[in-house]
Amino acid sequence: MTSLRQRREPPAFRLLEVKRTEVVSPYMQRVILGGSALEGFMLDGPAASIRVLLPTQGELAIPVWAGNEFLNRDGSRPIIRTLTPRRLVAQMQELHVDVVLHEEGVASSWARSAQSGSPVAISGPGRAYTIDPDADAFVLVGDESAIPAICQLLEYLPTVPITVHIAARHDDAVVDLHRDVAKTWHVTSDRSTADEQLIAAISRIDLGSHMRFWAAGEAATMQRIRKYLFAERSFPRSQAVVRGYWKRDR
Ligand SMILES: Cc1cc2nc3c(=O)[nH]c(=O)nc-3n(C[C@H](O)[C@H](O)[C@H](O)COP(=O)(O)OP(=O)(O)OC[C@H]3O[C@@H](n4cnc5c(N)ncnc54)[C@H](O)[C@@H]3O)c2cc1C
Repeated sequence: MTSLRQRREPPAFRLLEVKRTEVVSPYMQRVILGGSALEGFMLDGPAASIRVLLPTQGELAIPVWAGNEFLNRDGSRPIIRTLTPRRLVAQMQELHVDVVLHEEGVASSWARSAQSGSPVAISGPGRAYTIDPDADAFVLVGDESAIPAICQLLEYLPTVPITVHIAARHDDAVVDLHRDVAKTWHVTSDRSTADEQLIAAISRIDLGSHMRFWAAGEAATMQRIRKYLFAERSFPRSQAVVRGYWKRDR
């Protein structure tokens, strides 16, 4: 007998529309979502997540929770992507998301050409990062998909030493992090070189006992980082959050 795993139903979708877009860099587009359905939506910390339901041929049909995932009424899978709720401007009823423009991908194409007034819906937010008040230093690591979360973490983290390492495809993907911290951009168009550079950079960090480590990016890269941190450096798992944000070729 097969039993399907049931998961708690996520918050209901809020129907919004695209208000406008802004260029963050040639490799990242900000999409500003708005609408009265943002009433009551709250962000209580950095690096949370939202599910973003994107239109199919301009139409948006709100899917239903099928116990384990959202499905359209005809059983097909809706177009849903996870993004960081980068900024909430409650008085303007606006929510900003910053989307990586990569070669392929529905969210990427949507962000590139989103038209004002076009429908979109969000569910969330998912849990934000909990900042440990005992932490005496932070290390933040990621690829371009983690830039929105890293920028947000930098807005929330206390005044302690912070080291940031970000892998980016091109010099033009480098953005202002708006905080004076020790930061290194590992710029290379070759992903395996980027992985090597991130691991090498982490290997040079003196991981103190009250340090906290946060990383997000491509799943296999994050798996390597987990293995390195926990197996080779014996860094306590309880002091690290390492999240796969996307999977290569998926
Ligand atoms: C908690 C969380 C927060 C996230 N926050 C953000 C965010 O704020 N901004 C953001 O842009 N992404 C963010 N992501 C990652 C985002 O959900 C994925 O990158 C997603 O796959 C993008 O959807 P897509 O439709 O563009 O590409 P998909 O249709 O999902 O994928 C199509 C192809 O593109 C590749 N691909 C997917 N993402 C990338 C990428 N970033 N770089 C290069 N190739 C890629 C895939 O491997 C696949 O081959 C977050 C993910 C999580 C889990």
